[in-house]
Amino acid sequence: MPDSNSVSYQQAMENCAKEPVHAPQCVQAIGCLLAIDIKGDHIVAVSENSEAILRRSVDDLMAKRLDECMSDDFVSQFNDARQRLKNGSEHEIVAWSDGQHDFFSRVYFSQSWLVIETEPDSATSDLKRSCYFDRALLDISNAKSVEQTMQKLCHAIAELSGYERVLVYKFDGDWNGRVVCEHTTCEDIEKYIGLSFPASDIPSQVRELYRVNPIRYIADVDTEDAMIRYAESLSPTRLDLSLGTLRGKSPIHTEYMKNMGLQRSMSVAVFDQSQLWGLVSCHGVSAQQLSYSTRLNIHSLVKLAEQRLMLHKQFEADRFFDRVEESRKALLDRKREIKSPQHLLEDEGDYWLKLFEATAVALITTQTHRVVGDEIDVSTLQKVRVWLNENHGVTGLFTERDCRLSELRQAIPELPYCGVLAVSMPVDKRNQGWLVFFRQQETEVFRWAGSLEKGDVREYQGRQVLSPRNSFKQWQQDVDGYAPVWTEIQVEAAKTLAEDLAIGASAFQIEKLNQELTEANERLEHLVHTDALTQVWNRYHMEQTLEEEVKRCERHGRDLSVILLDIDHFKRVNDDYGHDVGDHVLKLISEALDKWLRSSDVFGRWGGEEFLIIAPETDLESAGQLAERLRRRLANLQFDKVGQVTASFGVAQLSRAESRNSLVKRADNALYQVKESGRNSVEVSPGK
Ligand code: GH3
Ligand code: MG
Ligand code: MG
Repeated sequence: MPDSNSVSYQQAMENCAKEPVHAPQCVQAIGCLLAIDIKGDHIVAVSENSEAILRRSVDDLMAKRLDECMSDDFVSQFNDARQRLKNGSEHEIVAWSDGQHDFFSRVYFSQSWLVIETEPDSATSDLKRSCYFDRALLDISNAKSVEQTMQKLCHAIAELSGYERVLVYKFDGDWNGRVVCEHTTCEDIEKYIGLSFPASDIPSQVRELYRVNPIRYIADVDTEDAMIRYAESLSPTRLDLSLGTLRGKSPIHTEYMKNMGLQRSMSVAVFDQSQLWGLVSCHGVSAQQLSYSTRLNIHSLVKLAEQRLMLHKQFEADRFFDRVEESRKALLDRKREIKSPQHLLEDEGDYWLKLFEATAVALITTQTHRVVGDEIDVSTLQKVRVWLNENHGVTGLFTERDCRLSELRQAIPELPYCGVLAVSMPVDKRNQGWLVFFRQQETEVFRWAGSLEKGDVREYQGRQVLSPRNSFKQWQQDVDGYAPVWTEIQVEAAKTLAEDLAIGASAFQIEKLNQELTEANERLEHLVHTDALTQVWNRYHMEQTLEEEVKRCERHGRDLSVILLDIDHFKRVNDDYGHDVGDHVLKLISEALDKWLRSSDVFGRWGGEEFLIIAPETDLESAGQLAERLRRRLANLQFDKVGQVTASFGVAQLSRAESRNSLVKRADNALYQVKESGRNSVEVSPGK
């Protein structure tokens, strides 16, 4: 690449960009130019070669009306064309005859003039060309890929036109062009495939011109152009010939072509929607005329190829999205267990690395981070997240490929990547997460066609201009510090995946919250029904259970008994060994009783050192026996230093239509009797 910092280079670039290539003072000699002013309908401009083409001298034509100097055939067709132009057509092509020769005229408006560019129709063997053209159309339509389409196109144009080299030249982001396809018809012609041409070769105003008029034809570099003469009545002017095909050659471009060893050329712009995508460039080393109709055919082939190329591009994009879609399905598969976004990244990360041609992919939120691919340390990742939030939080998108210009790299120099594609994960506003793809820098090899170093700038007509290169000898330049460009499709796909991850994150959060809620409820339920010290059922639970059991017995007429027991002289335990020991003994007694009881019995703490046993399906006798067994086993237990502990038991069986309060009351009465009569015994209530 040229030393773009030098002042003279900058100046020369500006001067080149100022060259009025759209409005030269002359036309190529293969055709003749006439211009009439719209108001007066008189010819006001004629190119000096009118005699050679139209067999009318400049003086014969100047200031005349068309019907005074042109054939009837032309005039009638011209009037039709003029009408179509008025109806909005950009340019019109008129095929006409003067009785002896056939001509093509291209007619278009230019400010307040109508310009007529006329070329003799030099086409021979029309049928042969038509057949070839037809086959070429089919060939290009049937091509299966971008590469094949370009190859078929180059081949067809070369065959149709006799150009020795046809190439497809694709612009990069800096308007450098790279030759991505080439067809040559002879061995000894230099091959340009893979070569890059610097942006200065096609300056901005020339690129603009391609937008207006996609064809540029240079018939012969060695033939001198014909000057345009203007009517005397006309104030000094330059006709804008942007829409024409005969525009005179720029001296700089002529020199450039000669240095490339070219005699003639034709370029057709290729667009991707409204973006200039590249050029199809045809190079001829021999002097050979190309008929107007062949040029039209070439244009048609390029237009067809353009459509097909964009279609193939779309197919490729679709295929990419199919692959993204597969990954999305996996992410959002509801049948699989709900996973955290971090887990999802672990599942899909390797696939995404391939898909996005990245070496690391990270998911970064305030609380968590996860990387698949290269290792990146936590603090760096968190710095990236903070920087992204501060600088790109609003748009939620950041892409970068240039190491030197990267603001992210300036903020976080330890980050070893210059390719970054970051999309925010809209989890919630406060806690914006980011899905970030990282690419290492790659060395991009440019094989430049010719040197653009010192001596490129020179004087031309008193101005500094860029010199067309004398040598197109290739030289190689390794450009470091860039990661490959993130394509629009990749950016879109990353956004989609981040949204999916966000959905996944929400689902996971909801699931987690639900789980926590269930656990909290369970804990609460446990607290409400359980005695904190002994972990057996508390009084609340016992009363509820007893109520239910009483009702059930009423309905089904079953037996139900309760046993109320109270530890004997428990105050002494506290007094002698302290409250903590007392607590411990209460716990041990609870554990023991709970263990000895049947699973159908319900055991709980009634209060203090009193416990209640609800024994469903149990009559008074069995309940009494149960109480006696428990009493005995308890009395046999040893509690370390405390020694033996006994309890007194009161037993009662539910009578018909008796309330739970009454039932417990009777058990309590029985228990009281035991206490009265000496403790450590069982008393049954006689019934109501
Ligand atoms: P009795 O044989 O007449 O039942 O004598 P007692 O000492 O067991 O009965 P009293 O009603 O006089 O005293 C009950 C004692 O139980 C007093 C109280 O401090 C103790 N107590 C009640 N609940 C707890 C407790 O949760 N932990 C401890 N360590 N002691 C308790
Ligand atoms: Mg007691
Ligand atoms: Mg008591």
